[in-house]
Amino acid sequence: MSLLNVQTIQLQSQASHKEDAIRQVGQLLVKAGYIDAAYIKSMLGRESQANTYLGNGIAIPHGKLDDRHLILQTGIAVLQLPDGVEWNSGEVVHLVVGIAARSDEHLSILANLTDVLDNAEIAQQLAHTKDPFDIVTHLSRSRDTTSATDTPLPAEWADALSVDVTIKNSTGLHARPATFFVDVASQFASDICIVYNGQIANGKALASLLKLGVEGDESIRLLARGVDADAALQALQEAVEQELGEAHEQPTQVIGAVWNPVSDLFSLMGVAAAPGLAIGILHQFQSQHIVVSDDPKDSKTEHDGLLQALNMAHTQLDDIYESVKAESGSGEAAIFRAHQALLNDPDLLEQVKGLIDDGHSAAWSWQQAITERIAALQQIDDERLAARSADLNDIGQRVLRLLTVEGYQAFNLPDTPVILVAHDLLPSDTAQLDPQRILGLCMVAGGTTSHTAIIARSLGIPCVVGVGATLLEQPNDVMCILDGSAGHLYVHPDQANLDSAREFQEVLEQQRNIEYQDRYQPALMTDGYRVEVVANATKASEAAQAVEAGAEGIGLMRTEFLFLERDAPPSEEEQFEVYRAMVQALNGLPLIIRTLDIGGDKAVPYLALPAEDNPFLGERGIRLCLRRPDLFRTQLRAIYRARLTGPVKMMFPMVATLEELRAAKEIAEEVQREVGAPSVEMGIMVEIPSVVMLAREFAQEVDFFSIGTNDLAQYTLAMDRMHPGLARQVDALHPAVLRLIDRTVGAAYEAGKWVGVCGGIAGDPRGAVILAGLGVTELSISIPSIAAIKACLREVSFPQAQAIAQKALACTTATEVHALPLIS
Ligand code: PEP
Ligand code: MG
Repeated sequence: MSLLNVQTIQLQSQASHKEDAIRQVGQLLVKAGYIDAAYIKSMLGRESQANTYLGNGIAIPHGKLDDRHLILQTGIAVLQLPDGVEWNSGEVVHLVVGIAARSDEHLSILANLTDVLDNAEIAQQLAHTKDPFDIVTHLSRSRDTTSATDTPLPAEWADALSVDVTIKNSTGLHARPATFFVDVASQFASDICIVYNGQIANGKALASLLKLGVEGDESIRLLARGVDADAALQALQEAVEQELGEAHEQPTQVIGAVWNPVSDLFSLMGVAAAPGLAIGILHQFQSQHIVVSDDPKDSKTEHDGLLQALNMAHTQLDDIYESVKAESGSGEAAIFRAHQALLNDPDLLEQVKGLIDDGHSAAWSWQQAITERIAALQQIDDERLAARSADLNDIGQRVLRLLTVEGYQAFNLPDTPVILVAHDLLPSDTAQLDPQRILGLCMVAGGTTSHTAIIARSLGIPCVVGVGATLLEQPNDVMCILDGSAGHLYVHPDQANLDSAREFQEVLEQQRNIEYQDRYQPALMTDGYRVEVVANATKASEAAQAVEAGAEGIGLMRTEFLFLERDAPPSEEEQFEVYRAMVQALNGLPLIIRTLDIGGDKAVPYLALPAEDNPFLGERGIRLCLRRPDLFRTQLRAIYRARLTGPVKMMFPMVATLEELRAAKEIAEEVQREVGAPSVEMGIMVEIPSVVMLAREFAQEVDFFSIGTNDLAQYTLAMDRMHPGLARQVDALHPAVLRLIDRTVGAAYEAGKWVGVCGGIAGDPRGAVILAGLGVTELSISIPSIAAIKACLREVSFPQAQAIAQKALACTTATEVHALPLIS
């Protein structure tokens, strides 16, 4: 069957802009029955992530891999635009070749296209022809792939490094993976080529790669020649292993009500981390332009300052390289090696040093040299050099920040509130967050239990995490809609979508107001069964806020936050003051203080703890406290003193063994005697599967269990909760985790003890109902979710919740649990 026929070619068309052209070619594919109309949105989305301009006036828009289910049949459509349309700055497209590819049948057409690319005359002819058969003929002819192109390897490649790899992508090396390949290859200085079937292609040129027509499961040879050949081959090999960006993505978890766009809208997808819808302009954190004045000290000081800043920039880039490599592989990380290479540019350094010798400051000289280079690159009409200028700007700003550290204001936000975009926020960054000026948070990295996500939930700011590096390419000030409930960032919405999102915001607001009015009522299910809804807190002032929001106490006080953002641990007195203030604000409602849970993602530099390869499996939580009795005893003293002022309970985090529990209790009881306080109800966080397996034994030695589903999910599924690639899968609604919760509740119940949950799923409507149905009697959640979760529990009866919970336990995947109807 032919993939291209005259019915799918539209000649003599016009398009006002690129998006219009993509929509038109998409409509041709729809009309031909190749795609569902929803795939057009995917094509628009894809275009924003990767440029599909091939060259010689030809572009090949296509959709995202995840949306392939919207392709009904493999097919191609061509939109001819004799007057052309601007694609990206300076590129004018006359032939828009829309691709809907379910498999690799279209590769021969792509390969033919690249032949047209080599021939400007034919490209011109096809751009203006009035005969659609001209286009069919050029793109559909069969090719001789062996004889004419069977070129022996040129001599200059004789001593190149090489490696053989197999293209795993079932659809072969088509446009999307080929673009990914070129992106990775282009981050290296070395020349890179691919040999396939006796043909040679330039690994940094999309058209050349496509011309190979490499199909799925075929083997190719990669060659690299140059200073970083080794690293280039390693990165490319890894990228090919990971299916050149096409490895299957997991479905997103959704929290609460989700807004649906009224028409196609480009969106970036991440992980839903804090619910709600934000509408506003995007603001890239740290993208501020630093202005420096030329205020030199003596020349030696300026030279030393420059050297120091360059060294620090190198170290920072090393760290970033290692962490990105660990998270996403060396392909993604390679850009930071390229940045280091830019730092070493001898011409650049010579110019900066010369300017310092001429009597200028290091910062001014550096900025001057970088600005000149960027301007020069931008004059050249070459897309790759333009990208290079963005890298130069990035590295320029990095060094400048190091040279002007006192003057650098990290949180220099605009006056109008914004959707803040960043790689991830450090605790020191979030400490400076002013919720009045931030409508939403959107992060490249992180998971739903990252520091940023926890803070966003506690502030009631919609938040999406784990979006990936394309997020940083979105321009400052562009209008966006951030859906923290579904994990989407919609970029540049049209008026109709903005209106619809605003209406949805109003509906959410009304619903929130209704729920809020009943916030002080208990969460009684329709049959009168009661679930206690309490709050998670990180600081003293949140106790009063929790009460105001309808919480029936504090179910988890994360005390480690008192240890962040300072130079030394808080004293006993300071800690006591915090706990005492909370007891007072709670006015008789319970306060559960969790002893220090430092380690994992919560590092405290001044404790000088040794670096660990695997901090989530290292000396975290109670393990650290048992090793550092100085910290532990001080905290316990403060807790027991607070107990003298009101109803305080305590629990230990990260307990794995009975020995740890016994050792912790022994120290606690000693401290209790020292302080002369009454006994305190003592519980443990259930976060490690070993505790679940011994839950009966643990239940004999504690007063209660509080299940930390964030960690229980990570340790059960063996997936790092901070890993951007895995964050979507670290799902506490996974049936494996639910069955562990069920087992824990059963063991506690037998021993007459109660069970709470203080991990993220307790604050999700679906999670709350399932947990209640499993017999969990206390849900500890972020303050802004209190009223909504109470309202949601009031909608169902306990037997209904039990029925849903039983269905969830019987599921075999998290996706099935997410699909269960909440009211049976
Ligand atoms: C948990 O692990 O679910 C939990 C509540 O503790 P944290 O998120 O602070 O590790
Ligand atoms: Mg935990």
